[in-house]
Amino acid sequence: MWHNNEEEGEEEETFGQTSRASAASSTGVSTAIFEIRVEGRALGASDSSTFMNIQRSTLPMGKIIHEVVFDIPREHYEVYTHLTRLVLLKQELFYDYRTGPPHYAHLYQDTIRWIHDYPYERLKRGAELNDGPQMLEFCLRHFADCEIPWEEQTYSATDFIEMLQDLAGDYGVSLIKRPHGKRRRIKHHTPVLQQRALAACAWINFTSYFDRPYGGSLYAVLNGLPMYAAACYANLAASGDFLPTIVIRIANWLGTLKTRYPGVDIRTTPRLCELKHIWLAWDAYWERCIKRQIAECSKVHAARNVYGCDGCDIRAMHKNAFRACSGNCHPETKPHYCSRVCQEKH
Ligand SMILES: [Zn+2]
Ligand SMILES: [Zn+2]
Repeated sequence: MWHNNEEEGEEEETFGQTSRASAASSTGVSTAIFEIRVEGRALGASDSSTFMNIQRSTLPMGKIIHEVVFDIPREHYEVYTHLTRLVLLKQELFYDYRTGPPHYAHLYQDTIRWIHDYPYERLKRGAELNDGPQMLEFCLRHFADCEIPWEEQTYSATDFIEMLQDLAGDYGVSLIKRPHGKRRRIKHHTPVLQQRALAACAWINFTSYFDRPYGGSLYAVLNGLPMYAAACYANLAASGDFLPTIVIRIANWLGTLKTRYPGVDIRTTPRLCELKHIWLAWDAYWERCIKRQIAECSKVHAARNVYGCDGCDIRAMHKNAFRACSGNCHPETKPHYCSRVCQEKH
């Protein structure tokens, strides 16, 4: 990755540690990072030159993203174990994908403040006393394995699901049979907390699907519980017009079944066809993506020298992604390069 306006080496100096993730993975954190790019936001610092995304065009409207790079502000880099996982999880569950978090630096600071104010033992006590916000934080800390003492007991997915169901309370959802049927009386309960708990319920069910030995089979999707439960919670969130990234991720993942099992349209299968809200949200998401792509294409088309490498067919999404030719060619047509190798051809 290169900046056109900085010397090599200065990048590290300025932006600290860099994380890389392939966008190809179908589960896990990397997809969340991909979603960050889809929303065109950079982690941490200001928009300029901290983030870029080089891609090779395939179809006029399609693209393969080779690599996503983002810089974590140095002062925030792993000050706590798996801090970034927790930040990404909050990004995925707390904020509507259409607006995103207020600012990533803010999200980091807020996450750190929580860890600072509520060290694990204190947080656990709060969760046991049914303090709503602390219960949610407790679950997320476990999901991200962030600052959990190694000697701590292990909890099952059901333990968290029960806690989150109680937080999502007023929606009256209960997909998992409760042995005693008793619900907690939650303190400091708010509608926002309920929505976030729904998103977290969707997340833990979605994730536990892949932990099962038969995870990945179409039979498990159509007849088993976790993926269906994930879709139901996502659908409930969507019914309240709350669309955190996890909702779209679940819909996207279900949509991929069409490719893997030709002839299967998941939207028309018996149980999933009833989840209208998630499918409407998914349609709206794709509509937005297409509009964005059209806008991007016309932007790139208008300044092909800036967004396209002169030495190969790699295209950039960000105008600072490539190095400009340092010669005195005309600024309007000045060629740009993805790498030194391409520049040397000039
Ligand atoms: Zn090139
Ligand atoms: Zn030149």
